[in-house]
Formats: sequence, C-alpha cells, structure tokens
Amino acid sequence: MRTNRRSFIGATTMAAGVGFLSSFTKDGKSLPRYQPSGNGLKLTFRPYELQLRHTFTIASNSRTTTAVMLTEIEWEGVTGYGEGSMPPYLGESHQTATKFLSSIDLSQFKDPFRLEEILDYVDAAMPGNCAAKASVDIALHDLVGKLLNQPWHRIWGYSAEKTPLTTFTIGIDKKEEVIAKTKEASPFKTLKVKIGGGNDEEMINSVRSVTNVPLSVDVNQGWKDRQQALDKVHWLKEQGVVFVEQPFDKHNFDDTAWLTQNSPLPIIADEALQRIGDLDKLHGVYSGINCKLMKCTGMREAHKIIEMARSLKMKTLMGCMTETSCGTSAAAQLSPIVDWADLDGNLLISNDIFDGMKVVDGKVTLSDFPGIGIKKINS
Ligand code: MG
Repeated sequence: MRTNRRSFIGATTMAAGVGFLSSFTKDGKSLPRYQPSGNGLKLTFRPYELQLRHTFTIASNSRTTTAVMLTEIEWEGVTGYGEGSMPPYLGESHQTATKFLSSIDLSQFKDPFRLEEILDYVDAAMPGNCAAKASVDIALHDLVGKLLNQPWHRIWGYSAEKTPLTTFTIGIDKKEEVIAKTKEASPFKTLKVKIGGGNDEEMINSVRSVTNVPLSVDVNQGWKDRQQALDKVHWLKEQGVVFVEQPFDKHNFDDTAWLTQNSPLPIIADEALQRIGDLDKLHGVYSGINCKLMKCTGMREAHKIIEMARSLKMKTLMGCMTETSCGTSAAAQLSPIVDWADLDGNLLISNDIFDGMKVVDGKVTLSDFPGIGIKKINS
C-alpha cells in the first residue's frame, strides 16, 4: 500500500532531521519543502547479471544473460534506485561501468533537486558510458520523486490512464520455438517480431499461425536492398504489421529516407538514435524514433527527446533493453505520451529484484509508488 504523504514526510523528517521551509497543515495551504542540507549525495553501485528466460536472438547476435549495474543514491535517509543495462553490442560492461561510476563524485552536491546541474556533471565526466550514466540518472530521479512523494509521470503532468499497450518481443528462432513463444505471449495484445535474419516470411507466418494481434517488426539493420525492403514492407502491411524498426544499417540514410518516403508503414529509428543531438538528422529520414533510457543517459534526456520528437510530428516508441523492473518502470513514466511502448525487458528475465510497472490486459500499467514507481523486493 502507498504511504500517505503526511506519514511519509513525517517519518522521513524524523529519521533524517531535515528541516522544512514550512510545516504541513490540514488545509493544505502550507506545504513542506525540502531544503539543501549540509550532506552530499551518496552513490553506491554493484554489478548484477540478469538471467534471460529464453536465449535471445536478433539479426546480429544471441545471448542468455545481460550485465547490469545496480545503483543507489542516498540523501538524508532516503534512497533512490537506479540501473544501467549493458547488452554486449553497445560496448559497455561491468568493468567500464565500474570505472565510470568510481570516477564521479556526487558528494559535492548537497541538493538532489538540482538534477540538471548534477546530470550535466555526470554526462561531462567521460564520453560514452550511456548506460552507466543512466544508472545515476534513474537513481537520482527516484530519489527526487520520493522526496516529493510523487511518481515522475505526475511530476511531468502526464495521465497514468493514457499509457499504451506494450509489445512483447519474439526473437529470431526456428518455427517450432517461435510458435511456442507466441503461444506463451498470449496475454499481450500486440507483439514485436525480430526479423532481418534471412527467414522473415517464416517468422511472420509462424507468429500468424497462432495469433491475430497487431504486430511490429524490428529488422535490427538486417536488410540490404531498398526495392526488396519496400516489397517486404507492403507484404508486412498485409500481415497486420503496424511499423518497421531500423530496416537498414544505421549509417544508411539514403535508402532509409527513400523507404520512408515510399513506405505504407512508419519507419522507426532505433540503432540510428542515441543522444538528443541525433534527432535533428533523423527528422525527414525516419517517421519516428525508439527512445531507450540506456542509449540516451536516462530519464532527463529521454523526456527531452520524446517531447522534441512529438513537436517535430515524429512517431514515438518508448523501448528498453533487458532490464529489471527498475529500468522499465523508469521508462514507463514517459509512456503516457508515446505512440507505442516496448517495455517488456523485465518480463524477459527470471531474477528481477524490483516490483514496479505491470502489464495488465496488454497495457503498460504504472504503479502508485513515488519516484520511478518501484519497490525493492529482493536483494
Ligand atoms: Mg530495436
């Protein structure tokens, strides 16, 4: 059950001895407000290995585990949780994240509400390290949301009931496996099918042999020829596919722009989009973008990317890596304003340690917990 605002703040105040500008009264006219204290932020982190329920295969690789870094930022007795997920193809690892997180000093910051200043410092500390940076960003957002006793979708002003359906991902596999996984995914009202591995028709036909739900496809840069790609997109539309993700190599702007112009389906950038600075050159080349916290250093920049893409009239998809409910619940805070969600990362693993967002009737369903909307259920 959610702690009510009054008891939460009261308990926190007593535990931490933090002063407020004014006290909380029954009529609500006078609200408490955290003030900077003499104490700096305390960042801790530990490596963790996610166990995948199934071997996960996309056009470029296969794996059974994902390395993540779990972070905590503590201030005045309140702890925010964060996570950085590091699938091997993105170049980060436990080693690189340990090096990065050991190099930053958050104790110099005495006021967690200065998110922009703190996260500018973290981003400038070293180039790259986007997932490690996201692990700090998410923990800081969780901390600040807890101090305000509100989840971030409310702080940003979004309506929890407007969350979209989420896809569940079916990886590239043999026909029998694809059919079995699709049957297992029957609670989902939409599926994402990985293609681009040379058996596209077989993948779609296998999925379609057991379900009629709308599909999206993720080619993961697997297609090479633009005319063949266009023919395939027309065929995919007839199969009930609603969008196509990353058809060509992320550097191939010419063929992508041509396909987008001629395609009956939206063409979405995933590998081609990392940081907010990429959005400008993708506008006009792709119909939309797949934003993931682990690519763009976390919630602060993801929020800006989604809002900017919307203002450019681009389609928006909120995605994730394989993550615990920490990462997916943080991403889910933005889901009320996106066109589509692909927030199934926590469902692909067998050793989650958080309780947070859920999928109810196929729809992203936000928890009522403050911060990023999670509770730690295991250590
Ligand atoms: Mg993708």
